[in-house]
Amino acid sequence: MSDEFLPFSRPSISQEAIDEVVACLKSGWLATGPRVTQFTDALKTYFAPKGDGLEAPPAKDMRVLPLMSATAGLHFALLAMGLEPGDEVITTPLTFAATLNCIVLAGAKPVLVDIEPGTLNMDVSLIEAAITPHTRAILPVHFAGLPVDLDPLYEIANRHGLRVLEDAAHAIGTEYKGKRIGSFGDTQVFSFHPNKNMTTGEGGCVVTRDAALAEQIERLRFHGIDRQAWNRYGKGGSQDYDIVLPGFKSNMTDIQAALGIHQLRELDGFIARRSELANRYQEALSDWREWTLPKTPLYPHLHAWHLYTPLINEEAAGMNRDEFMLAMKENNIGTGFHYRAIHLHPYYRQAFGFNLGDFPKAEDVSERIVSLPLFPDMTDADHDRVLDVMYSIFN
Ligand SMILES: *Cc1c(COP(=O)(O)O)cnc(C)c1O
Repeated sequence: MSDEFLPFSRPSISQEAIDEVVACLKSGWLATGPRVTQFTDALKTYFAPKGDGLEAPPAKDMRVLPLMSATAGLHFALLAMGLEPGDEVITTPLTFAATLNCIVLAGAKPVLVDIEPGTLNMDVSLIEAAITPHTRAILPVHFAGLPVDLDPLYEIANRHGLRVLEDAAHAIGTEYKGKRIGSFGDTQVFSFHPNKNMTTGEGGCVVTRDAALAEQIERLRFHGIDRQAWNRYGKGGSQDYDIVLPGFKSNMTDIQAALGIHQLRELDGFIARRSELANRYQEALSDWREWTLPKTPLYPHLHAWHLYTPLINEEAAGMNRDEFMLAMKENNIGTGFHYRAIHLHPYYRQAFGFNLGDFPKAEDVSERIVSLPLFPDMTDADHDRVLDVMYSIFN
C-alpha cells in the first residue's frame, strides 16, 4: 500500500497553540498558574447560558474546575456527592471504563439500564424502574456527542431527589434544545484527552452550579488543601495552609492550559468540520446493506460528532466487526472500537454478577459497532479513500 496510515483520530494543533506552549515553557511557570486561570475564565464564558443569540456573561453560580483528566473529574464529583457503601448510581453499559470505575472507586454500586439502539444513549424510559431506596445519582453519557434526552431525565431525578452527573467526555460543543451541555443542569464532566473534540494533552474539567461540591472537588484535586498553590506564593499571601482531607493530585498544569486556550477558540471550527465529515458518511453510506447508520433523535440538538459509529450488518458484509477492522488496518486505515459493553468485562461480571443477556441492546451494539476515521484535519480525499477501501473490502 502506497497510502500512508490514516488514523481514526488525530488532534489538530495550531501554530498559535504551539507558540503558547513554548511561551509557557519559557515563562518559568509550568504548574497551575496564570494560564490555568485564563483557560478557566474562557471555559466559563464558553459554558455561560446563551441568551437571545448572544453569549451571556458567565453565570455567577457556575463553577468550572480544570483537572488532569475527566476520570479525575468523575471520581471527585462522585466523592464530593458523598456516596456511601451500598449507594447506587444508574448509568449506561455502553461507555468507557472510567464511567463505571469511578462509581466503584467512590464506594458505590453501578446499576445499569439498557441503551436505545438508534442513538446509543441510555434509554431514559428505563431509569425509573431501576431506582431503589439506595439510588443517589443518575450518570448519563452523551454518547459520541449526541445529547441524552435530559428533560425527562432531570424530571425523574428531581422527583426522586437524585443528583445528576453528566459524563460529557464526548460532548464539549453539544447542544440540547438550544442549550449547550455544561450551561445548565447539575454537574458535567468534560475530557480533553487527545482523541476528544479538543485537547490539552491529557485533561478535563468539571462544571457545576453547586458551590459546596466545587469547593470539595478543589480540595480533592490538590492534596486536600483549600487554596491553589500559586496564590500561596503570590504577593502578600501566606505560605501556610490547612489540609482538611487526604486529597489527590490532579490539578491541571499551565502547559496543558496553554494548549487548551487555543483549542477552545478553535473548537467551533473543529465541530463544524466533524459534522461535515459525519454527514458525508451518512449520505455516502445510506444505501449500503453492510451498515446500520447512527440515528438522531427528534428533539432539537447539536451533535458534536466526537465519533462516527455505524453498526456492521454481518450477513450482508460477509464478515464481523473484528474482521472488518483488520481488513481496514491491512489497507492502512485505522478504526476504533467504542465500546465493549462494560458489564461483560471480567471485573464487572465478578464484582456485580453481570452476565451475558442482561442488556441485550448494548450487547448487540457492542458486537457490531466500529468508529470510522473522523477528525478535523481529515480531507475529503482521506474520506473518499475510506469509502473506496470499504467498498473494495465488501465487494
Ligand atoms: C474519554 C472518556 C472518559 C475519560 O476521559 P479522560 O480525560 O481520558 O480521563 C470518561 N468517559 C468517557 C465516556 C470517555 O470517552
